[in-house]
Amino acid sequence: MLNMNLNMNTILCNNSASFPCTKRLKDKVAIVTGGASGFGESTVRLFAKHGAKVVIADIQDELGESICQELLSKYGNEHVTYVHCDVTNESDVKNVVNTAVSKYGKLDIMFNNAGIPGDPYSAVVSSSIENFKQVFDVNVFGSFLGAKHAAGAMIPMKRGVILFTSSVASEIGCGTSHAYTASKHSLVGLMKNLCVELGGYGIRVNCISPYGVATPMLVKALGAEKAVVEQLVCASAVLKEVAPTVEDVAEAAVYLSSDEGKYISGVNLVVDGGYSTTNQSLPTVVKKSMV
Ligand code: NAD
Repeated sequence: MLNMNLNMNTILCNNSASFPCTKRLKDKVAIVTGGASGFGESTVRLFAKHGAKVVIADIQDELGESICQELLSKYGNEHVTYVHCDVTNESDVKNVVNTAVSKYGKLDIMFNNAGIPGDPYSAVVSSSIENFKQVFDVNVFGSFLGAKHAAGAMIPMKRGVILFTSSVASEIGCGTSHAYTASKHSLVGLMKNLCVELGGYGIRVNCISPYGVATPMLVKALGAEKAVVEQLVCASAVLKEVAPTVEDVAEAAVYLSSDEGKYISGVNLVVDGGYSTTNQSLPTVVKKSMV
């Protein structure tokens, strides 16, 4: 009987090197902020593949709509919705949560993923205060608003999953701007506080912290071709013979959102191939001095 159910639920997913997999998010309802590009887009696609109903929330309306239309034709009517949502605007965030609940009846997963890098690194004495506030507005306040309104919908159900995209910059200072590094550390603090409060309602709260991946954000921030950015990322990585991709983050989001992760809460899941375990400056200096 068990085997028969498994077979009926088993479909061929194209991710994970085409291994057969079950629909791990069947009947779940998810919102992905920043869902029109990069990690968010990849997660939207993988969530839909795993059977979730997904609301794409972004400010890039054309991109978001086109992904939505593509996935609707693939998975059928009503499976995916695009909603314009600037995460820094509370009425937009409230609207996207209300849309998910009114259209699909509930909200199971809130992935607060939208973020911006802000200005490139600059010395603290010449850092722009305006830029610092803007980065915090999107990365921290926007995520707080997402968690706040998602919690409002999840508390009565006594279950739910809230995720944040933080960064390897939540673990180490790594050449990103002071604003960006501080904002990503803040998300981990917010996640831990929410984990304690919302755990009382059966709601799990976690962060995913990726290393560099050549998304439109990183390509623009580094001002180089995508292929060059990929080379730079691989050259500086600890884990060799494999390149980090947006799908690695999407897979982590599926795990944390699925029932397989039902006792995981309060975790900053670092998806960095071990980058944050080490500090390469001593070996680099030693190597240089030996040349
Ligand atoms: P991306 O630019 O491809 O995607 C970010 C998305 O967020 C875009 O679609 C953008 O329109 C949206 N967005 C920006 N501001 C918004 C707002 N105010 N309201 C709603 N949507 C908004 O970049 P990405 O690399 O996929 O970034 C996703 C997250 O991953 C960010 O939080 C980023 O800080 C984080 N991150 C990225 C990297 C990397 O190397 N790419 C590494 C670690 C963490």
